[in-house]
Amino acid sequence: MKSFKLALLLSLCVITVSACQKDAPKQNVVNVQGQTMGTYYSVSVFGQDKLDAESLEAEANKAFSQVINAISTFDDSEILRFNNFKSTEPFAISPYLASVIEESRRESLRLGGAMDFTVGPLVDLWGFGPKAKPTVSPTQEQIDAAKKLVGLDKYELRRDALGNAYLVKTNPDVRLDLSTIGEGLGADLLASRLQELGITNYIVSVAGASRSLGYNASNKEFKIGIEDPDLVMKQGSGIYSVICPHGQAVSTAGSYRNYFEENGLRYSHIIDPTTGKPITHKTVSVTVVGDTAAKTDALDTGLLVLGKDEAIKWAQRNDEAIYVIYVEDGKLKAAHSRAFEKYLKCQ
Ligand code: ADP
Ligand code: MG
Repeated sequence: MKSFKLALLLSLCVITVSACQKDAPKQNVVNVQGQTMGTYYSVSVFGQDKLDAESLEAEANKAFSQVINAISTFDDSEILRFNNFKSTEPFAISPYLASVIEESRRESLRLGGAMDFTVGPLVDLWGFGPKAKPTVSPTQEQIDAAKKLVGLDKYELRRDALGNAYLVKTNPDVRLDLSTIGEGLGADLLASRLQELGITNYIVSVAGASRSLGYNASNKEFKIGIEDPDLVMKQGSGIYSVICPHGQAVSTAGSYRNYFEENGLRYSHIIDPTTGKPITHKTVSVTVVGDTAAKTDALDTGLLVLGKDEAIKWAQRNDEAIYVIYVEDGKLKAAHSRAFEKYLKCQ
């Protein structure tokens, strides 16, 4: 929940200045930008008079607080308390966290465990967790020990007759890490709230996850920029490709912002649960379009673990819309699945 991967439509105005100048705003805009979950967010609503900037900001903070209270590994949260609960007794959790875990588990199973939110002990071991900054690789022995705590069979979600939910660890040291879907959860909650309020034109972006509906101030559909990993590393920002989400959620996972280098190898903060090691392959980002940002945010991480070839094969088999940026012969290249085709076309 740390990087800012999707540059928004507004930045697109920087690229297509003349188009933006010709299309003078036809709808009023309320925009709020800020920080949450260690990253940046932006929300804009168009052509409505229900929310001013102050109340929009309050709605955003309310949505993000719900996510932080459930899953943060930095601030006090249900997950943090569960991780610190060194016991195999049942631990009561909120209905919201229970539904988040159930949904993430579904996506994890679809990917054969490439995205696995029990990866917490490995994340901490490699120094990407809340405790330390990554500097050197752990030993194979340490990796093997941490791997014994990782896997979807290492916890159980139980419900009692009244529907109350509990998490149970198989080992007191099991630790969950749902941070990879935090941005998606935040974008989904805020989008749902805006829809509840009857707002039909909006775009929400929390770092690499976005939700949008309807039209922008110029009555045009929203455009999202997929970051250029080289430009981001060289100058902090840059767009590789522009897509139109047609009302769907979009999220990107990348290995180019959060990593450390040792002996010429770049270790990303995305960990392959099978090897217990950070990915070091040549796939640098995966963008997924789908119904909810929680789902796309879970999938992008797992597909990045699988790497370009496996990810594209998986997406073709499952009819999912994905766009992969990878390095070949020292150059960035892109590939996408069949279902992604329609997002490359704007109306
Ligand atoms: P990005 O910076 O690409 O948005 P996120 O911050 O959303 O990535 O997610 C990266 C975080 O997800 C890592 O810092 C770690 O806490 C967790 N993580 C790493 N590998 C995995 C994995 N294979 N499955 C689930 N979570 C992971
Ligand atoms: Mg993700």
